[in-house]
Amino acid sequence: MALIVQKYGGTSVGNTDRIKNVARRVAEYRARGDKLVVVVSAMSGVTDGLIKLAKDITHLPSEREMDMLLATGEQQTIALAAIALHAAGIPAVSLTGAQAGIVTDGVHTKAKIQNISPSQVHELLDEGNVVIVAGFQGRTAEGEITTLGRGGSDLTAIALAAALKADLCQIYTDVDGVYTADPRIAPSARKLDEIAYDELLELAGAGAKVMQLRSVEFAKKFGVIFEVRSSLNDNPGTIVKEETRNMEDVVIRGVSLDKNQAKLTVFGVPDQPGMAAGIFRHLGDAAINVDMIVQSASHSGGSPATDISFTVDKPDLAKARKVLDDIRPTIGFLDVQADEGIGKVSIVGVGMRSHTGVAGRMFEVLGKEKINIDMISTSEIKISVVIQLAHGEQAVRALHQAFLG
Ligand code: ADP
Ligand code: ASP
Ligand code: MG
Repeated sequence: MALIVQKYGGTSVGNTDRIKNVARRVAEYRARGDKLVVVVSAMSGVTDGLIKLAKDITHLPSEREMDMLLATGEQQTIALAAIALHAAGIPAVSLTGAQAGIVTDGVHTKAKIQNISPSQVHELLDEGNVVIVAGFQGRTAEGEITTLGRGGSDLTAIALAAALKADLCQIYTDVDGVYTADPRIAPSARKLDEIAYDELLELAGAGAKVMQLRSVEFAKKFGVIFEVRSSLNDNPGTIVKEETRNMEDVVIRGVSLDKNQAKLTVFGVPDQPGMAAGIFRHLGDAAINVDMIVQSASHSGGSPATDISFTVDKPDLAKARKVLDDIRPTIGFLDVQADEGIGKVSIVGVGMRSHTGVAGRMFEVLGKEKINIDMISTSEIKISVVIQLAHGEQAVRALHQAFLG
């Protein structure tokens, strides 16, 4: 008898027929004698709809209230999933993240899990229930409701699998697994049978939203092997696990596009020690993730100054602008400009460690497509470029064709 954690994403619970379909699959596993913990997302579009309601009122809503609002999405689905299981004659109990013992820090809208005390989950399982847990949410030690960042139901599932020492963790979604590129953008993308944590980490960090970045970090840290697979068929999915030796034979495992970044340029920053530190410390204090940073050569005309460009997640743009406006008098820069029309395209593969010339080839492919590169960053196993968003999908297809076609 195995303990299995299954997670069903937004599309997989997108309407009542899909929810009945989830109940059918859960029933099949249960009939084999397995114990099941089922993590569900909000029905597709619900979280976006709730965000839109708040943004219709103000562009900078309170983050505590956003958590209060967004947590309701998943609460609808847990109840509906429990009702569907009851209708199929299966005992099931729904739990909020707080009831499942998921305790987080107090950083609203992107809280980190601090610990999980799943005693209630264990008790309910022992009594023979399927336990359905609301993804994406937790509570602080003080009892405040928090959410775990967009896509956070993946993290709920992985973290519960680790805490419960589950035998199997399955992430059910609307594609057959992790592909060499988003199949919606590159129709020739192929499903991968397996991928290393580090590769999926880089792909997720570079915009491949098939798995939430932090959930993959968590899985790697705690050694949770998991499978990404489709809720719409029975095809085997992609196994995500520690790197094996033969994985380096493949130079590039995948290509991804991040449409969710915006570029900020701070003009006329005094070219003195401590200025960049001042800017990025304040952004960090506001829990704003900064990804790529480029500083121009110093230009003079009076006292020397430079321009600093960096990228942030689009939803953080208004907050970042406010931080910059607030520190402008103390730092003394001239102006700030935002560009929401950028995209970040990345190629990823552990094989890059042992193969040279990959960056040159990437830039050549983009050059042939007449796509201008605005910013570049690299890690040991990833090369990313910022380009105009309008060229993002074309770049993905060209790079996929060149490296994986
Ligand atoms: P869920 O609601 O199940 O969490 P998501 O929409 O968050 O599903 O993630 C699945 C989607 O991720 C797919 O529909 C696909 O368009 C997108 N995606 C992006 N990159 C990839 C990739 N490399 N492989 C598979 N899917 C990808
Ligand atoms: N409902 C949340 C979101 O849309 C969490 C998730 O689906 O994983 O981001
Ligand atoms: Mg998701």
